Amino acid sequence: MKFEKGLILALDVRERERALSVAKSASEWIDAVKINYPLVLGAGPDIIKDLSKTIPIICDFKVADIPNTNRLIVAEAVERGASGVIVHGFVGKDSVEACVKAADGKDIYMVTEMSHPGGKEYTGAVGEELASRAKEFGVAGIIAPATRPERISHLKELIGGLKVLSPGVGAQGGSAVGAIEAGANAIIVGRSIYQAKDPGKAAYKLCPFKD
Ligand code: C5P
Repeated sequence: MKFEKGLILALDVRERERALSVAKSASEWIDAVKINYPLVLGAGPDIIKDLSKTIPIICDFKVADIPNTNRLIVAEAVERGASGVIVHGFVGKDSVEACVKAADGKDIYMVTEMSHPGGKEYTGAVGEELASRAKEFGVAGIIAPATRPERISHLKELIGGLKVLSPGVGAQGGSAVGAIEAGANAIIVGRSIYQAKDPGKAAYKLCPFKD
């Protein structure tokens, strides 16, 4: 996947029509739309097909199961048109590798540590080790927290040129500029865009690379 605008919309709404409308209004300023369980459960899995006709889709399913179940989940996502899937790394190499294989050339992004305060409690402790092994696992990049930009720069040093996607800007308190300066290839933003009166304008304002 390419991240030329440096912005990914986290479309955490539940209604199909609202999802399509927010995605359309922000489309000029985003590289991709990230969808999560709220939308897939609310609108049905074919929302992946519908949205992927006009914009690359990352399925943030934070896949964290045994290799066989991981493989089945990732296959469902990519067969519906997903360009990327987010998976957890703490489940181990075999589980992540099963995702990479099932993605059939599409991108797998691995969560190293979570962006919310509780993310420090447990995922923070394994973040560095996961980042160091990301290349070996075969993923396209990692998810690292914009709420802790010093962690972005540190984890980036460990991943040998892979991409860094960073959630936590806006509603969770992280800054877009801080995350990009720390080395994120793209920021992931949800509420600050889809709850705005004009999501297109909010996306424009947050977009790190407008030209
Ligand atoms: O609304 P907000 O901008 O906080 O949305 C952030 C998005 O990024 C949500 O979809 C959340 O699930 C996701 N995310 C995160 N922290 C991670 C991984 C994903 O906030 N470590």
